[in-house]
Amino acid sequence: MRPRIAVIGSGPAGLAFARVLHRHGHPVTVFERDPARDARPAGGTLDLHEGLGQLALEKAGVLAEFQALSRPEGQAMRILDPDGTVLRDWQPRPGDRANPEIDRGQLRDLLLGPLDVQWGRGVTEVVPASRDGVLVHFTDGRQEAFDLVIGADGAWSRVRPAVSAATPQYTGVTLVETSLDDVDTRHPDLARLVGDGSVAVYGVNRALVAQRNSGGHVKVYAQFRVPLDRHTTPDRQMGRNRRVGPGPADVEAVRSSLLARFDGWADSVLELLRHGAAFVHRPLHVLPVSHTWAHVPGVTLLGDAAHLMPPLGAGANLAMLEGAELAESIAAAPGPGDLDGAVRAFEERMWERAGRWAHITAAGLERLVSPDPSQALALFDEVQPS
Ligand SMILES: Cc1cc2nc3c(=O)[nH]c(=O)nc-3n(C[C@H](O)[C@H](O)[C@H](O)COP(=O)(O)OP(=O)(O)OC[C@H]3O[C@@H](n4cnc5c(N)ncnc54)[C@H](O)[C@@H]3O)c2cc1C
Repeated sequence: MRPRIAVIGSGPAGLAFARVLHRHGHPVTVFERDPARDARPAGGTLDLHEGLGQLALEKAGVLAEFQALSRPEGQAMRILDPDGTVLRDWQPRPGDRANPEIDRGQLRDLLLGPLDVQWGRGVTEVVPASRDGVLVHFTDGRQEAFDLVIGADGAWSRVRPAVSAATPQYTGVTLVETSLDDVDTRHPDLARLVGDGSVAVYGVNRALVAQRNSGGHVKVYAQFRVPLDRHTTPDRQMGRNRRVGPGPADVEAVRSSLLARFDGWADSVLELLRHGAAFVHRPLHVLPVSHTWAHVPGVTLLGDAAHLMPPLGAGANLAMLEGAELAESIAAAPGPGDLDGAVRAFEERMWERAGRWAHITAAGLERLVSPDPSQALALFDEVQPS
């Protein structure tokens, strides 16, 4: 008999896992808390690396569709001084597909394809090792039993407590996100500033980054070191970050406080904040570097649930590759009795790779939002091909 497998969460990790398993002919159900596919904005753009996210898409059989949708020109990166001086202006070479960008919503739709997702099925708790299997409790009061439960439910995972007592800790850095629409027509100067990819400006303990998404949409991230206060506390009940204030007065209050925080920076850069619509606070939390756990039969974690790290271009890539690799290992297991061995071997591999990236991204965040802004430029020069 085929093992009963549940995936909790339809982010990059859960969908990559489910899509690859589905490709190998195994039934799998994805349980997602959001009430519908488009219940909330999908988020910004993701760069998917060769050998990581792109490898996962190849394993899922959708690499060609990704190549048609993604934006290799989005790899372009410009770095400015707070006074507006251009310090670096890097353009990808023709045919460079090392890290093309794709909107999160496009990636989700690409992976969703034929999958069976049960929307509006939030999980409250997972209880391993019952007589019937692993018990999953849902917000609607129902419970269901499975042979294997994959916790792909992100930073504030409800599955994680079944295997680990670790909880995310605040890094000291908060992002405040805003966005602009239709930049090429409505804000041509900002469109030129951002270019085809990203622009980043680094100051003392703060940075402003703007990234072009498809359709003339630009996401702006103001980043700074600040204590965690009531404005930056994630709503753990919902597991979501908090949209600041319901009314225009709140939006203007946040805008003013951001402009004060970046006081003295070039007007051409501050325009990104002056024209932003709503603001969302995202205090950056991380799990301990090299987070592991004693193996628990029937339950495992993928992606941010397993190794939440600073958002420096690795999290979704790792999440997807882990999902694809675990699915392949399960598909290759000769019988139901070999399932646990496949999961154990996968966990060892995931921990080793994620541990390396957690070190890299933790050190990266220290340098990008740093008392010495020259560190950010030095980091860029170390990682960017000349
Ligand atoms: C601003 C920003 C920019 C980033 N840029 C990049 C980038 O360019 N490249 C990159 O690789 N990474 C990037 N990351 C990191 C990346 O977004 C995450 O690492 C990635 O989304 C993790 O995928 P996941 O599937 O593990 O979790 P998530 O994407 O968080 O997905 C979890 C899913 O589980 C659902 N869920 C949560 N709780 C429950 C529950 N109790 N029951 C059921 N469902 C639940 C959620 O609704 C969600 O759909 C960025 C992050 C941020 C914040």
